[in-house]
Amino acid sequence: MKLVYSDQYDLNLGNHVFPSTKYRLIKEKLLQENVIKPQEIVDPAPATDDDVALVHDRNYIWKLRNAKLSYVEILRMEVPYSPELVQAVWLSAGGSILAGRLALEEGLGVNGGGGFHHAFPDHGEGFCVLNDVAIAIRRLQKDGLIERAMTLDCDVHQGNGTAAIFGADETVYTVSIHQENNYPYPKPPSNLDVNLPNGVQDTEYLAVLEDTLDQALSEFAPQVVFYLAGADPYQEDQLGGLKLTLLGLEHRDRIVFERTRAKGIPVAVTFAGGYARHVADTVRIHANTVKVATEFVGSESGPAVQ
Ligand SMILES: [Zn+2]
Repeated sequence: MKLVYSDQYDLNLGNHVFPSTKYRLIKEKLLQENVIKPQEIVDPAPATDDDVALVHDRNYIWKLRNAKLSYVEILRMEVPYSPELVQAVWLSAGGSILAGRLALEEGLGVNGGGGFHHAFPDHGEGFCVLNDVAIAIRRLQKDGLIERAMTLDCDVHQGNGTAAIFGADETVYTVSIHQENNYPYPKPPSNLDVNLPNGVQDTEYLAVLEDTLDQALSEFAPQVVFYLAGADPYQEDQLGGLKLTLLGLEHRDRIVFERTRAKGIPVAVTFAGGYARHVADTVRIHANTVKVATEFVGSESGPAVQ
């Protein structure tokens, strides 16, 4: 299996609740544990400005490119502006485009980054600058590779940017399973929103996920699913209020791959958020997602080896 990854995914955030070194740490763990081989790591090309403009306003792109964001705009992003940040988000968008293409070719594509679902066409917020998943979907559509896509957002925070971008678009079906009593406020409607109460644990979450996937896939037939495998529904997350365990999150990933595989739908994975008290837990959760994904690559009917 290929892992789309760049050392420049690091958003250069320094001492921040968002551990932007996580991308490198996850890649290292996957290599250490022989989940992936060095030759399976694919370096993405950055998205072009024309790709980005399929989703974002040209004026916003220009301000990002030329360090012209206002103080208030940077505050709203909640991450410090830097040339490295700009490079990282353009690369992450390119990585999600590539993961989408790999998904269509091989059944599964993994971007070892991305999932910046709080980015809107004209502004960034909540640590998200460019909406890489939306850009990838628009680019795949433009290239004629797909017509219909689904986003399955399992980050603990609702995918407000994605919901707003595709709100009036019948070619993209957005699903978000999140904690209701948490950022963002307001929550623009996805096609299917599941507002979970505080403290939901594994069993309840996994049952809700199964029902939600069944409903979404009965209402809409996507040619690709973009899965945002947020690590922040974890019980030790600093910005989340759900109570999933490491094992529960791994089970979550397996359900997503099993259900989509059963219908023959390719999946492109992005990581999205993760703010566990111990960075090692966030790294473990994301690495597990990739590990579970490898079980489904190249097999027609599910895991080859249990
Ligand atoms: Zn989140």
